[in-house]
Amino acid sequence: MTATIIDGKELSKTKRSELAKEVEQIKAKGLLPKLVVILVGDNPASLSYIRGKQKAAEEIGVGFKLENYPESFSEKELLEVIEHYNNNDEYHGILVQLPLPAHINETAVVEKISPLKDVDGFHPVNIGRMMTGQDTFLPCTPAGIVEMIKSVGVDMVGKNVVVVVGRSNIVGKPVGQLLLNEHATVTYCHSKTKDLSSFTKEADILVAAVGRANFIKGEDIKPGAVVIDVGVNRLESGKLCGDVVFDEAKEVASFLTPVPGGVGPMTITMLAHNTVQSAKQFLVE
Ligand code: NDP
Repeated sequence: MTATIIDGKELSKTKRSELAKEVEQIKAKGLLPKLVVILVGDNPASLSYIRGKQKAAEEIGVGFKLENYPESFSEKELLEVIEHYNNNDEYHGILVQLPLPAHINETAVVEKISPLKDVDGFHPVNIGRMMTGQDTFLPCTPAGIVEMIKSVGVDMVGKNVVVVVGRSNIVGKPVGQLLLNEHATVTYCHSKTKDLSSFTKEADILVAAVGRANFIKGEDIKPGAVVIDVGVNRLESGKLCGDVVFDEAKEVASFLTPVPGGVGPMTITMLAHNTVQSAKQFLVE
């Protein structure tokens, strides 16, 4: 078997052109959707992610502003900036780029963002809404993964086992929840799981969000499985690779996402989606 590649770039292109049309309609009603990204420090990886977010916003016609503060910026000052944007209705999406410097409490920052403008979907109110299946901002990476699975017509209802390797708050836990909302039977695996491959080998859909290069081998995958590789790992050579051994998985899986060009572009597209949805709340019909 040779897996069909789920191309995150192509899917993003389609989604972004649909979003651009929605933005046109919103603008026609007199509102310009706008996103502000707040960065403390100058972490090169963060700057690179932000460039991707800016490009997506510009592609679909959404206004974009970067607020970049020095590493020494205090938590109090950052909370004041967030408060300013919470109350500024010209901006519909607020994103604080993580990770933050160690002297700033990430939880306090995430909780300060108005749930109405929380386009990352990290605020506990929005996580609670997601858990209870309500309409809300879904966290971008997990939402992008669900879109990718749906895009190839894979029905998630009643799938025997979906193993999520990883249980972080931003990827592993919410992707499992969204797959559960789609009526899959979900198993979470993590660093304390015993005999990990006995779980992965049973998975109809396997989501790898571990953050370890080439962690999942071909022999760990059930023949015909849908394999979603979330990991972004930089090898010594400078090349990016996922958590899954791509060449081996290609021979076993039915569908497979590449790294780069898979989950990454879709994550950014879902941020653009959330920003557009957020702006719609501010339309006066
Ligand atoms: P975290 O480091 O927060 O979580 C990693 C998870 O993997 C943890 O739950 C951890 O278990 C588990 N894990 C680690 N080692 C093992 C092991 N040996 N066996 C089983 N499980 C293990 O990472 P994130 O969730 O934030 O990100 C995961 C990957 O996804 C990273 O490579 C990141 O760069 C990438 N990523 C990609 C995005 C994209 O847009 N493409 C967006 C976000 C992340 P435990 O909880 O027990 O420690």
